[in-house]
Amino acid sequence: MKYYNLKDKQETVDFKTATIKSQGSQKGLFFPERIPQFDEEFINNLHLYSDEEIAFRCMKDFIGDEIPEEVLKNIAAETISFEIPLKKINEQISILELFHGPTLAFKDVGARFMSRCLSYFLQDQQKKVTVLVATSGDTGGAVAHGFYNVPGINVVILYPKNRVSAVQEKQLTALGGNISALEVNGNFDDCQNLVKQAFSDESINSELFLTSANSINISRWLPQQIYYVLALKQWQKHEHENPVICVPSGNFGNICAGLLTYFRGLPAEHFIAACNENDVVPDYLKTNHYQPKKALATISNAMDVGDPSNFTRIMELFGHQFDTLKNMITGYSTDDESTLQTIKEVHEKYGYILDPHSAVAFDSLEKYLHENPGKKGFILGTAHPVKFPEAVEKAAHIKIEIPEALNDLMKQEKKTVEINTDFEELKRFLLNKNQEQ
Ligand SMILES: *Cc1c(COP(=O)(O)O)cnc(C)c1O
Repeated sequence: MKYYNLKDKQETVDFKTATIKSQGSQKGLFFPERIPQFDEEFINNLHLYSDEEIAFRCMKDFIGDEIPEEVLKNIAAETISFEIPLKKINEQISILELFHGPTLAFKDVGARFMSRCLSYFLQDQQKKVTVLVATSGDTGGAVAHGFYNVPGINVVILYPKNRVSAVQEKQLTALGGNISALEVNGNFDDCQNLVKQAFSDESINSELFLTSANSINISRWLPQQIYYVLALKQWQKHEHENPVICVPSGNFGNICAGLLTYFRGLPAEHFIAACNENDVVPDYLKTNHYQPKKALATISNAMDVGDPSNFTRIMELFGHQFDTLKNMITGYSTDDESTLQTIKEVHEKYGYILDPHSAVAFDSLEKYLHENPGKKGFILGTAHPVKFPEAVEKAAHIKIEIPEALNDLMKQEKKTVEINTDFEELKRFLLNKNQEQ
């Protein structure tokens, strides 16, 4: 499979290059040159296939023979080596729990797939590879765990001091080994600027092989298709109608992967883009006018995005046809107050505890089902509620039980190096780190 740059269609690359480079010229995103169709027999009889086989079949056509079949089968199996159950909350609404991975958020799936592909492609590389990533919370943990102990790879994560939650901080800083965490005296934008400077610094790039693990990378984006097919496998056991699929969205990578499975032949009734107060896409769907905004801070912070990167991939999927897109996707925006209210009500009525991101999705799906009676669907549960204990306790006045693995993690020592927003400090760190090898 070849991928073209959405900003410059002449630039086409293979899967390996797209994975290593992350983006093309002019910061353009890569997009597959064709949409491979699912075999009809396969998609209508998912119960006959193991989860590992489904994961492999979701990815195979996008990779061709760039990774040998046996290696890809292993990568696919490791990517989903935790449970992904579809649970009924009430008669109309189910939840696909995507948060049973090592960092308790759905980003684990993409990060695990990407880390294993990168290490496969770079195995003959002489230089050690440094994966540099700035995080506002969830991405850093998933990337750290995805690359932990992967031979030949160092990970350096920059995070803003005092601005990530206690759980998120431990997920970044307790691993050690090939993972280094830099605590930056600044905010997330400062971290991101330092990373960008490093990518354009000649002396760093002559010494180190730098690559990035941000979410626009196709090897983090494409494996998200697997959730939707695994959900459908469980859905088909009990339901006869096609599901309405509701996705809590920020950078729109996840829902874009879901729409890709729809174009490949996955039966779905409709998609819902569930947003917090950052409502650029719901606004676009109402007005046919795309207007990026400054991101607002909310309690579903992983969705605080004012100009979603993957929106351009969605437009490409729909051939830039607004009417087709509007018929397939509905957008809703839910503010913090309604998010807390939803957590409270769902706990009271059904005894189920939602995290703030999944609560935004629940609220959106309820709205849609109210406007479209007789339909049923599921939401994607993107984070475990223990990652956001303050919001959940505030909403429902319940103390949530901390899983054992997380308790162990919280007892571990935090290992960080503190730096200022001065680029020379980051540069010194990276070059010294490289000398140690
Ligand atoms: C990243 C994230 C999202 C948003 O996913 P996108 O692919 O960026 O739309 C939603 N929920 C949680 C918990 C996240 O970490």
